Amino acid sequence: MCAQDRPDEDEHGIRIHAGRYSDAYLQRASWQLGYTIVMWRGRHIAEPTELAAEEASGYWLEVLRVASALQRHYQPVKMNYQTLGNAVPHLHTHLVPRFAQDPAPGRPLPFPEGERPRLPEETVRRDALALRSLV
Ligand SMILES: [Zn+2]
Repeated sequence: MCAQDRPDEDEHGIRIHAGRYSDAYLQRASWQLGYTIVMWRGRHIAEPTELAAEEASGYWLEVLRVASALQRHYQPVKMNYQTLGNAVPHLHTHLVPRFAQDPAPGRPLPFPEGERPRLPEETVRRDALALRSLV
């Protein structure tokens, strides 16, 4: 993630936010509608505790801006914020909208094992365009 040059899109997603502290990518995986990853853009950091106060407030405010756009667009019942980094230890936050028809109410949504099917390309592009104007 450090070496990535802030692309508008990559194989995993389409950028919907380019901020001072982060980029956010709507994911192509069909795991959950609106699934978005916000990536810290700056020196390499694995833990949010490594951020200076100004960086921390900037990062989390941008996370909230993106989450707010997802809420307005997808109208979920609840938003989940997952800052894990066990597999990819560069600071990033998974934004996962949760809907009424949910396979695991009351728990984190389990990541699918193995291959992740993708949303139709036109769906991802249409949603990314709409979200960009909301962020
Ligand atoms: Zn890094």
